[in-house]
Amino acid sequence: MTRRDYLNSALLASGSLLLGGATPMDLLAKDDWDGYGGVGDYSSSNGNTFEVIADAHKLIRDHPNEGLPANVIDTGEEFDCVVVGGGISGLAAALFFKRQAGPRHTCLVLENHRIFGGEARRNEFLVEGRRLFAHQGSAIFFPPLDGTFLADFYDSIGIDSRPFEYQTWTGGEPEIPLGRTSYTTGGANSGFFFGAKFGQPKGLWLIDPWGKKLAGAPISEGARHELLAAYGSKPALPQRHGDALSRHLDSITLEEHLMETHGISRETVRTFLSPVAGGGSGLGADALSAYAEYAADVLLPWKYDAGAQMFPGGNAGVARHIAKALIPDAIPGAVTLADVCRSAVNFAALDRPGQVSRIRLHSTAIAVRHDGETAKSSWVTIVYARDGKLYGIKARSAIMAGGSWTTKHIVKGLPETHRQAYAQFYRAPCLMANVAVRNWRFLYKLGISECQWFEGTGNYFALRKMATFGPVSSSVSPDSPVVLTLKILFSSPGLPIGEQVTRGRAELLSTPFLEYERRIQEQFSTMFSGTGFDGHRDLAGIILNRWGHAYLSPQPGFFFGSDANPAPGEVLRNTPFGRIAFANSDLAGIMDHRTSILEARRAVGQIIERS
Ligand SMILES: Cc1cc2nc3c(=O)[nH]c(=O)nc-3n(C[C@H](O)[C@H](O)[C@H](O)COP(=O)(O)OP(=O)(O)OC[C@H]3O[C@@H](n4cnc5c(N)ncnc54)[C@H](O)[C@@H]3O)c2cc1C
Repeated sequence: MTRRDYLNSALLASGSLLLGGATPMDLLAKDDWDGYGGVGDYSSSNGNTFEVIADAHKLIRDHPNEGLPANVIDTGEEFDCVVVGGGISGLAAALFFKRQAGPRHTCLVLENHRIFGGEARRNEFLVEGRRLFAHQGSAIFFPPLDGTFLADFYDSIGIDSRPFEYQTWTGGEPEIPLGRTSYTTGGANSGFFFGAKFGQPKGLWLIDPWGKKLAGAPISEGARHELLAAYGSKPALPQRHGDALSRHLDSITLEEHLMETHGISRETVRTFLSPVAGGGSGLGADALSAYAEYAADVLLPWKYDAGAQMFPGGNAGVARHIAKALIPDAIPGAVTLADVCRSAVNFAALDRPGQVSRIRLHSTAIAVRHDGETAKSSWVTIVYARDGKLYGIKARSAIMAGGSWTTKHIVKGLPETHRQAYAQFYRAPCLMANVAVRNWRFLYKLGISECQWFEGTGNYFALRKMATFGPVSSSVSPDSPVVLTLKILFSSPGLPIGEQVTRGRAELLSTPFLEYERRIQEQFSTMFSGTGFDGHRDLAGIILNRWGHAYLSPQPGFFFGSDANPAPGEVLRNTPFGRIAFANSDLAGIMDHRTSILEARRAVGQIIERS
């Protein structure tokens, strides 16, 4: 039995192991786990790194009580506001605080990774002398409607909401259309791959599957009809958040909804549609509220005509713009798309004593507690861990923007209402694997730039043309090195949601880098060796971004409550706990950086109103 076999054994699939003594990670060395991190600002922060997860699990496990831990070094620092979590929500909260509280009011952001951005970070490769970018998590953005709060906000941080310029084709004839994002479009440039699971041991490609109405797909006639019906149908959309249809959708699963509206079988949903349907919420359709599929469109209308946009490194671009607005020399250069994308982060500028807004990286908050009785308290004490030591700071107010999975453990004395609300937040894991290849002739020969498959590792990828304002080549051809992003979800259809996310996390955390690298290489070889793919020659590098708690996966009842209980997000949004308010995109149930920003705005409003 090899070490890997041991790690992957059924023992590790047990989520309870994560809560008890040794975790699967304890059995792996850091480098076995993190793997290669790429180059540039983000090279030591690919996903949730080994040190961040190991520290967080250990510290939170070691300090479960309501009191503050012992052996805390008091830094003597006092801030008007401390924000826990340096993702888009935490950064936006700090910026709103700076703008609204006044120029002398101090704010510190505590972030546990070695760079800010949270799920909105990027990977960088250097292949054949070209710098390649890819998103680690948060990818696309939808230009907001003119005159809205979000449009003004983007404008204020230097993001022009006009569509970006994208690479042009220099690959000769025939040109294969490339989308602007990493999501599939299902056009003539797409392909479905069927392998052994469908009786095709040598593999079968169906190019332009929807255009061909799935003719030639090795699936049953019944499944073909069901899929075509589902693909072509346009179900009625809720008109308003809270209308009868939205409430109905929130009372059933997405799977039930797909079966009800399209007349398709559970088996077809699970074989072909899950977890891509619902993938924006991290699990398969069986576990999610049907409203999860519609909530963003209902609540966050955008300029459809402009189309979705993508920075070279995904929404790391948004995070970088907010960081620059907060601390102008955090990223040298002008407030332009090009400078903010290209310039290296000036880490020394982030946490200078005396500075009004500060970002302290590599610092895990492990306890946040009011001093004395909550109602009468004037201060909140925040304890954070860094390099094995605990430090204490004080703040007039705190904003918890790190997400439900840490907030519920570290805010001490949290009322029962809030505890119960957070108990209804399930965050699913996700592995974002960025695969750099030296050229993509193996796709071009098939006549595709995007594809989907239904067995093995991953489900889909879509090659995109990149926005050109970064240090990105202005053109693309089949001979260009590119990055292909595989989003790997861990759903176990049919199991209770809590069990699905725990099992998935155990698998994500217990599998070494080399094993994922092997699986990805095998998947590519299975699909593309027939058109010339050779892993040893063509793969330039793989970066894994492991997100232990990637997606809030809203179960039925998440949006509007169930059994006469309020929606859990509403409890946390409506009622700050003394001097502590709550942010992060998960409160909205919509995994989208726009909700990160909007939740931050609301939380800052609450603490300013209180003070
Ligand atoms: C794979 C994936 C793809 C996505 N794609 C898109 C997309 O295309 N478009 C889109 O708009 N959104 C997308 N999202 C949603 C994404 O969640 C939001 O866009 C946004 O980045 C979330 O920001 P946040 O600040 O709310 O949370 P996070 O990004 O999770 O930030 C929270 C930060 O706080 C840190 N933290 C937590 N606890 C502590 C602690 N105790 N001490 C210190 N630090 C702490 C975390 O490590 C993290 O860095 C995607 C998400 C994932 C996972």
